Amino acid sequence: MSATDRPPAPARPEPVVLNDFRAQWERIRGRAQGALERVGSSGRLILGPEVAAFETALAARWGLSHAVGCGNGLDAIEIGLRALGLAPGETVLTTPLSAFATTLAILRAGGRPAFVDVDESGLVDLDACEEFLRRRPRTRFLVPVHLYGHALDLARLQGLRDRHGLRIVEDCAQAIDARGGDRGVGTVGQVAAVSFYPTKNLGALGDGGALLTADPPIAARARSLRDYGQSGRYRHEHLGLNSRLDELQAAILRDALLPLLDEFTAARRRVAARYRAGLDPAVVRPLPIPAGSEGVWHLFPVLVPGDRAAFRAHLELLGILTGEHYPVPIPDQAALSAAPGPCEVVGGLPRARAIAASEVSLPIHPFLGDAEVERVIDACNAWRGGPCTP
Ligand SMILES: *Cc1c(COP(=O)(O)O)cnc(C)c1O
Repeated sequence: MSATDRPPAPARPEPVVLNDFRAQWERIRGRAQGALERVGSSGRLILGPEVAAFETALAARWGLSHAVGCGNGLDAIEIGLRALGLAPGETVLTTPLSAFATTLAILRAGGRPAFVDVDESGLVDLDACEEFLRRRPRTRFLVPVHLYGHALDLARLQGLRDRHGLRIVEDCAQAIDARGGDRGVGTVGQVAAVSFYPTKNLGALGDGGALLTADPPIAARARSLRDYGQSGRYRHEHLGLNSRLDELQAAILRDALLPLLDEFTAARRRVAARYRAGLDPAVVRPLPIPAGSEGVWHLFPVLVPGDRAAFRAHLELLGILTGEHYPVPIPDQAALSAAPGPCEVVGGLPRARAIAASEVSLPIHPFLGDAEVERVIDACNAWRGGPCTP
């Protein structure tokens, strides 16, 4: 049979992807091209009016007085810790379940990470933090993470801060606009750090990040640290970084992406609501939403009993791509053996380990269509590999 005689292959549906940057480009093309033209023709490419205008817009939206654009979210956390006066070798309490960047930032700022377990939602367990801080009252630093786009209980976080005199950098990389109780994430810590990595809810067309604070001296130190530690031109007061948000990303973020963030968040929430209504909990169980959290659904994490790899392969055969956030608890990462000192790990971290072993992230992004969401639900509910459904 010659190639031309072959029966046509059955039409395969387009794969369901984790992020659709091409669809996003269709949505933002006009405004992004306008931003490129404006920056290019302005002749100002680094730390000019575009970064300043984006910082002002972001700070106003967040309700904090200062935003400082940085090269990425990792640097924003490091700069935040340094601006808060972290001393070399000082303990920083944090979570074992996050992007490795959270811990890497602590190490790069000269801190010594201490890990306590997470709660059933996968966010750092504030009771375990309280117990650690009672036992170790000299601890001054905490880096909590609003993981998956959910907010930690911010009233309890504030209680911890006040009882123990804590300096807090809230890692809001996954949780821009999330609310916990009656307030937004990033308003309890002295610093909030955010990332504009393309997959994040407010993603740039490349790397970017920012830290936010209500405290003018912290903002001033952060501005110096991101730009070689300069206090004035060629006057270096600190051993800083080169971590500047560039004019082009700032202009694109302000013109094209920030104005769509409400719409994108609403779309993510619709997908999450449909998943939560449609998924059969006997097959896959969505991780519980933390009490009081009005999340922004950066990810849609579920727990899969049984063989996770087989479940993901089953979905992939049906054209559905998935992720794992995160398969290895941070204290188990090989890179930590090169840390200047041993990290501290409180207990066996059973919840973090259970989530790391069985979590799967289903596709969720602002351009996911209803039919795609239904395909994901049907494919999940058809899975027969777990012990719940023999
Ligand atoms: C993405 C992310 C970071 C790091 O941000 P980058 O911009 O990639 O450096 C830090 N913490 C969390 C929780 C993240 O998801």
